Amino acid sequence: MTAQTERLSSSLLNEADNEFNGLTLALSKGRILEETIPLLQAAGIELLEDPDASRKLIFPTSNPKVRVLILRASDVPTYVEHGAADFGVAGKDVLLEHGANHVYELLDLQIAQCKLMTAGVKDAPLPNRRLRIATKYVNVARAYFASQGQQVDVIKLYGSMELAPLVGLGDLIVDVVDTCNTLRANGLEARDHICDVSSRLIVNHVSYKRKFALLEPILDSFKHSIAAF
Ligand code: AMP
Repeated sequence: MTAQTERLSSSLLNEADNEFNGLTLALSKGRILEETIPLLQAAGIELLEDPDASRKLIFPTSNPKVRVLILRASDVPTYVEHGAADFGVAGKDVLLEHGANHVYELLDLQIAQCKLMTAGVKDAPLPNRRLRIATKYVNVARAYFASQGQQVDVIKLYGSMELAPLVGLGDLIVDVVDTCNTLRANGLEARDHICDVSSRLIVNHVSYKRKFALLEPILDSFKHSIAAF
């Protein structure tokens, strides 16, 4: 057996093993996965399969002590909070919306950067009544408008927020924006900047204590990579 196949079979065993006692890392597809992969590589951790080309949800890595879960972005804090994953990468937008309990937000990885903003139909004045805000960020929206002394009605959506004000579902949206191209393509414009967003490394409280020896070299490597950006 070559060293590579030995590593692979030991990782596959770990993957199927409910008694896995290494580190489980929670990630989500898209920008977070893409931009976390180089950080993992620098820490000597390679995914043995491409999550974008697979329907699997648990991925072994070249380090038999590390496996990766691919989750919906908004589920990452929940898995880490409950210890189903020891650590994870989540956008600050998701952490603000979810409320991060029982997790340490240890590092700003400075990846997947964007902004949380309000947006509305280009040049359209706001109505002179209580505003309706369509968003998947209901907690962020309530907190933001409360901080502005404004009472609003929040309408919960799960995606395609840009559509809502175009068809009269809400006067404004609250969403993450990067280039604003998606807003512009839909006849919308960014209005108020709520906060900057980047991805954070979060760690379960208990894992941080019990698995510190395994976590420490990975945290150090991530810190080193961030400083080198
Ligand atoms: P934009 O570059 O503003 O056109 O953004 C393109 C789409 O990606 C929009 O639907 C945004 O909501 C979304 N988006 C942009 N940046 C991020 C990010 N860092 N994390 C998650 N979604 C994002």
